[in-house]
Amino acid sequence: MASITLRQLRKTYDNGFQAVRGIDLEIRDREFMVLVGPSGCGKTTSLRMIAGLEDASSGDIEIGGRRVNDVEPKDRDIAMVFQSYALYPHMTVRDNMVFALRLRKIAEDEITRRVTEASRMLALDAVLDRLPKQLSGGQRQRVALGRAVVRNPQAFLFDEPLSNLDAKLRGEMRSELRALHARLQSTAVYVTHDQIEAMTLGDRITVMNQGIIQQVADPMTVYEWPWNRFVAAFIGTPAMNFLPGTVELLDQPVFRLGSAVLPLVMPHRTRLMELRGPEAVLGLRPEHLRLAPTADQPRLPARIHQVELMGDHQYLTLEVPGCPNRVLMKAEGHHRVRAGDAVEVGLELARAHIFGPGGDDAPNLTLPPGMARQA
Ligand code: ATP
Repeated sequence: MASITLRQLRKTYDNGFQAVRGIDLEIRDREFMVLVGPSGCGKTTSLRMIAGLEDASSGDIEIGGRRVNDVEPKDRDIAMVFQSYALYPHMTVRDNMVFALRLRKIAEDEITRRVTEASRMLALDAVLDRLPKQLSGGQRQRVALGRAVVRNPQAFLFDEPLSNLDAKLRGEMRSELRALHARLQSTAVYVTHDQIEAMTLGDRITVMNQGIIQQVADPMTVYEWPWNRFVAAFIGTPAMNFLPGTVELLDQPVFRLGSAVLPLVMPHRTRLMELRGPEAVLGLRPEHLRLAPTADQPRLPARIHQVELMGDHQYLTLEVPGCPNRVLMKAEGHHRVRAGDAVEVGLELARAHIFGPGGDDAPNLTLPPGMARQA
């Protein structure tokens, strides 16, 4: 197994479009690294450059300490699993799995050993003689995995491998992939636009936008300490609320939202000094608002605009005086509320964030001191 290092990696397509704009990334030996970001952010291009299916315009790619920019894909000792499965339709499951091994002139008894082990691991033993069209979607994806596993590569590269499956199967395959990774102890790079897959699969996740790395950290760190407003908005479902207002750096800093004055009680506040003017944005996740506030909790008056009952919880869309956009909150399902009700919602401000004014790049000014963009 091997580490994968990217240094100042860039890709400019022939039409001049810069899909990847100088990324530095260290994927550790045996790590499950997820590249996540919206459509078009450059994650597939990055993966294809690691695989050798796309030439890098500049920068270095190292696999296991060896620079592989000029090494043919077949000689990089990696195996890729695609969204489309890419199985040979006229070959049985077994033949799909052994094809690449025979090309490599691997001994027949070794091929049999690897196929037996992989098909047992992936519960394919009963379907080895079937053709792909005689399989379910989940089974086909497992064959694609099996074909990668038998090659015993230094690293696995996954390009949205679960997106063709229905939601239930996707959930099952997620757990199978985790189990497979734990068993094989392999380095894996996994591309997805689905942040739930990123959170559940990754040892660490790399959030990308517009060809640039936004943050690299373990999933909880990315959720709790998003580096900038883009990461804050992208990670977490439903997405974080952004409430524009003003900050006053008094003895106890406060955030003014309309006539409400909210104490900024986040644990890390030193970077608030970097604000050039009073304008700022309060970032508050839907799960950090409360319908039944505790006595000492800051509150906001609100009117319920919409209720979406999900069973054990419900999503309430709120109109808050002084706030130009609606605020979403996640409440327990047992509260009996209706659209039009006036409520007072409690805010867990210790878990809120303050962002500078501006768009996606606006920095999070309430991060722990010394925290780096890549951890
Ligand atoms: P998706 O989830 O939609 O696949 P992605 O993050 O994987 O998105 P890439 O496939 O890496 O994105 O593409 C990054 C950008 O590069 C996109 O804007 C895409 O349109 C562009 N692009 C991809 N391939 C080419 C190409 N051959 N020529 C020009 N532009 C390209």
